[in-house]
Amino acid sequence: MRGGIEIWMNQLNPVEIADDGKSVKVGGGALSKPVIDALYAAGKETTIGGCECTSILGPGLGGGHGWLQGRYGLVADQFLSMDIVFANGSLHTIDETSDLWWAMKGAGHNFGIVTSVTMKIYDVESPNWAFASFAFKGDKVEEVYEAATNHLLKNGTQPRDVINFSYFINLPDIDPDNSVIVFFIVQGGVKVVDSEFTGPLTRIGPVATTTSTGTYLDLAPWILTSNVDGPCQKAGLINTRFPIDLETYNVQAQRDVYDLFSSATHETPALNGSVFLLEGYPLQGVQAVPEESTAFPFRGDSLLLAPLILYKPEGEELNKKAAKLGEDLRQTKKQMYGHEEWCQKKMLDLKNKYDPYRKFSFYAPIA
Ligand SMILES: Cc1cc2nc3c(=O)[nH]c(=O)nc-3n(C[C@H](O)[C@H](O)[C@H](O)COP(=O)(O)OP(=O)(O)OC[C@H]3O[C@@H](n4cnc5c(N)ncnc54)[C@H](O)[C@@H]3O)c2cc1C
Repeated sequence: MRGGIEIWMNQLNPVEIADDGKSVKVGGGALSKPVIDALYAAGKETTIGGCECTSILGPGLGGGHGWLQGRYGLVADQFLSMDIVFANGSLHTIDETSDLWWAMKGAGHNFGIVTSVTMKIYDVESPNWAFASFAFKGDKVEEVYEAATNHLLKNGTQPRDVINFSYFINLPDIDPDNSVIVFFIVQGGVKVVDSEFTGPLTRIGPVATTTSTGTYLDLAPWILTSNVDGPCQKAGLINTRFPIDLETYNVQAQRDVYDLFSSATHETPALNGSVFLLEGYPLQGVQAVPEESTAFPFRGDSLLLAPLILYKPEGEELNKKAAKLGEDLRQTKKQMYGHEEWCQKKMLDLKNKYDPYRKFSFYAPIA
């Protein structure tokens, strides 16, 4: 960032569960892990991003995906009210009665600094969660994503407590010349992932598999997004993401993108720490919220694909190469806030009203 001001929110981190057990008030700088832990200790849960070191509001103001979205909807769908400071320094408490409320759930980084948010919480439905992981060599791309499409995504009817993640990643111990596919399944309410979901992947012939049983608190360590895992460490790397949302897999496109990722990250060793993330979330809770009631435009998309190009800073040439690879992998650029004209206009009108001098336009800007 140049010519801007970065504000550290980390001291604004209280987590206060209401006496009636129906809501929690979270400070604007609170990170996910302390909130998850405080809720869990009280026998409560709500949708929170899957990474322990990201904040509640960073993901939440953009919608916010999480393990429990099949039950409860997005992070933003839990918002009941918030305190926000506008660029002119005025502090306001807003809720569904404000015209800005719609935009705060999807484009909320654009209007001010949220000093606290009050969110819905729920009794923990089941303490049990189960995990299964599989590693495949690259010749299995088609079979893996066919199985994912037919047995996990099920044409948008993926069970609400089943989440699948996969990574294209370079693991030279398994294959020194090509990227490997690592496929994870997480299931809530059970101690072992149902064979209905694991069986089709096992039959393809993975080179390695693991399974685990635990609670909600184990999910981030299983998926490698806990506070001690790589994505939460400051390793001096440049991390660029090129995300796109999809409704389903196209097996040929999966082959093409795997081949490009594998060859490019082997041809340029400086980029071989990169990862291609493919996240498959259930939609029941997300689709229970009417599309037009929030600025989040992708309630029909269960797949989040994101090449994550990781490298040590080395200069402009490598930066350009990394950016080109990310864009080539993504291919089609989707507009961040959807395509619908009424939606674009409403957002712009709110931006002109609440942030006319564009003070909050660094992250995911509307205009
Ligand atoms: C390892 C990892 C895992 C992830 N997993 C998920 C996931 O499971 N689900 C998901 O939805 N996303 C996920 N993400 C993406 C995540 O939503 C974004 O990276 C997000 O920007 C993180 O927000 P932050 O507040 O932690 O980061 P920051 O860089 O601190 O914040 C990002 C931006 O959010 C805005 N912002 C943050 N706090 C406030 C506030 N209080 N008031 C106003 N604006 C604010 C600012 O514009 C800021 O520039 C993941 C990211 C990583 C790195």
